[in-house]
Amino acid sequence: MTVLGATGSIGLSTLDVVSRHPERYEVFALSAHRQVAKLAELCLQFSPRVAVVAGPGEALELRRLLVGGVLPEILYGPEALELVASAPDVTTVMAAIVGAAGLGSCLAAARSGKRVLLANKEALVMAGDVFMKALRQSGAVLLPIDSEHNAVFQSLPAGFAYGLKGSGVRKLVLTASGGPFRQLEPALQRTVTPEQACAHPNWSMGRKISVDSATMMNKGLEVIEASWIFGIDAERIDVLIHPESVIHSMVQYEDGSVIAELGNPDMRTPIAHALAYPERIWSGVESLDLTRIARLNFEAPDFGRFPCLRLAYAALRAGRSAPALLNAANEEAVSAFLERRLRFDQIAHVVEAVLDSAGVVELNDLDTVLAADAQARECARAQIRCLETVTA
Ligand code: NAD
Ligand code: MG
Repeated sequence: MTVLGATGSIGLSTLDVVSRHPERYEVFALSAHRQVAKLAELCLQFSPRVAVVAGPGEALELRRLLVGGVLPEILYGPEALELVASAPDVTTVMAAIVGAAGLGSCLAAARSGKRVLLANKEALVMAGDVFMKALRQSGAVLLPIDSEHNAVFQSLPAGFAYGLKGSGVRKLVLTASGGPFRQLEPALQRTVTPEQACAHPNWSMGRKISVDSATMMNKGLEVIEASWIFGIDAERIDVLIHPESVIHSMVQYEDGSVIAELGNPDMRTPIAHALAYPERIWSGVESLDLTRIARLNFEAPDFGRFPCLRLAYAALRAGRSAPALLNAANEEAVSAFLERRLRFDQIAHVVEAVLDSAGVVELNDLDTVLAADAQARECARAQIRCLETVTA
């Protein structure tokens, strides 16, 4: 298998599960971007045939760190990511790069008929139609890693994962922890720091998705992701706040039944499910102790407090390039927030301004997706500069 984004939170959890089953999985390639020292450690542990990094400098550095041992072939750049995602020796690709940077390699895996373990939700949000068409044409299989989508997948009847027609499904209910600011006075959102936003109560994750969880844009991206994976429209996807993150999502059926997947909040469970599907393997995660948890809580999401969730639903309903614009604007705004150039509450302002000003167009292929992405980023950067001058 190939693990894209091997040094990230999902990549490391994947390799943790893989290391429990050395007889089952052979690591063909590992990728990291700039975290070369971490990648070197993983190369020593997993002996991949290929290692991919950001550029020539990182490649030299990795070679230096590994000298004296068995060297993998060291490649760099986006084409190398596509190469290891589509290599003939690879059957399974874990797509765990964060953001739009993962789109090319995700698509390469989909086009070449791999088992695509999809963590990189931004790729699907940007290019859902192009990606799903590529999967269908090549016969590739998508297995969702995002815990909500993995829970829905597990709660559906076999064979209905990519289209719910005839399944008797009434609605999907995606649960959300509500993040660290569920109860924060809305007026105080303007004072939130990157450190506060990255301290998630239940899950330990990369910085970008942690900020997305805090704004609830993450749930919005997941609503769009669910709409593509399961072929269902916005009206039939609900979001439910469930602070304990024990129920990972649910499916409501026409007859009134509700089927859910429960577990401890640890990404190794959905990862192990997708790695072994349709078998079951040890993931390192213990089963739930419901007597210890004792109480589960639920509440409706507050769209006023979390405007990013409202904007994501609006983008899904608008369709065409609107989700790609939303995603690109959000990526720009989140990185400006992490660099302390934008306030937390201004992330939603930037996204809304981009959705209001950039025209929505059809997305037929990768080029039109990338053009919409670039246009939204330019517009978002202008907005951010404007807010910076006003705030300074
Ligand atoms: P992370 O920041 O911990 O790791 C990101 C990985 O991508 C790293 O290996 C990094 O080297 C690599 N990377 C970063 N920029 C890159 C670039 N420009 N080109 C190539 N590689 C690059 O992120 P994460 O939390 O592991 O999340 C990865 C993806 O999985 C995201 O799309 C996220 O939304 C999704 N996801 C994560 C979780 C979670 O619990 N962490 C849960 C569900 C979904
Ligand atoms: Mg999720």
